Amino acid sequence: MELIFRHDAYCRSCEATVVAAEAGGIRLDRTVFYPMGGGQPGDVGVLRWPGGQTPIVDTHKGEGRDEVVHVPAEGAALPEPGATVEAEIDWERRHRLMRMHTCMHLLCSIVTGDVTGGAVGDGKGRLDFNLPDTSLDKEHITAELNRLIDEDHEVRPRWITDEELAGNPQLVRTMSVKPPMGAGKVRLLEIEDVDLQPCGGTHVRRTGEIGPVRIGKIENKGRQNRRVNILFAD
Ligand SMILES: [Zn+2]
Repeated sequence: MELIFRHDAYCRSCEATVVAAEAGGIRLDRTVFYPMGGGQPGDVGVLRWPGGQTPIVDTHKGEGRDEVVHVPAEGAALPEPGATVEAEIDWERRHRLMRMHTCMHLLCSIVTGDVTGGAVGDGKGRLDFNLPDTSLDKEHITAELNRLIDEDHEVRPRWITDEELAGNPQLVRTMSVKPPMGAGKVRLLEIEDVDLQPCGGTHVRRTGEIGPVRIGKIENKGRQNRRVNILFAD
C-alpha cells in the first residue's frame, strides 16, 4: 500500500483502487488518509466513485505493515472491490492537526524531561513530561513557543538507518512511543535549528504556518508527571 501522506502531507485527495470493502473497514492500494498513531488522530473524509460515495469517519492501522483501514459511516454504501475511487480527506481538520502536531515538537524542544505521552486533538494538544520540577512557567513557555513559530523555521522529514539511530539514542525524546525499527530505516522529523526526532506523523512545512498558540493548563499528574496543554490562540 502506498502511503502518500508520508512524502506529501499536503496531498488532499488521490485516485485509488479498492482492495477490500466491508462494513468494518475499506482497504485501498494507496491513500492520503493518515491512520491514528503517534498521538495523532486518524483522518476523516470521503471515498467517491461514479454513482456513490462513502463517508469515512475514522482511519486506523491494519494488521500488516503499512496497512491502512478506512472506517465507513454506519450503514453507508460500500464501493466494490476492484473499483476506482477518489479518496479525499477533510483538509481543514487535517491542516489544524498538522499545525498542532508540529507545535508539539516545538514544545518538546522548550520543556526538558522525557515525553511519556501525548495527544493531538482538533484545535488543542497535550504532552506529558517526566519531570520532578513543578515550577513550569505558563507565560514563559507560551512566549518561547510563539518566538519559534514567528522565526518560521523549516520543517522537513529525514530518513536514517536503524544503525544510525541505534548509535544516536539521544535522538529519541519520546519514551512511550519507540520509533519503528526493523524496517531498515527510520523517519525523523527535523525542525531546522530546533528539534530532531523520530516521527511518522504529518507536519506543516514551516513553523510560521502553525499560527499563534498559548499554553492552557499545566497539570500535575503524579509526582513526576507534568501535563502541558496547548491551544490555538486565534
Ligand atoms: Zn511529528
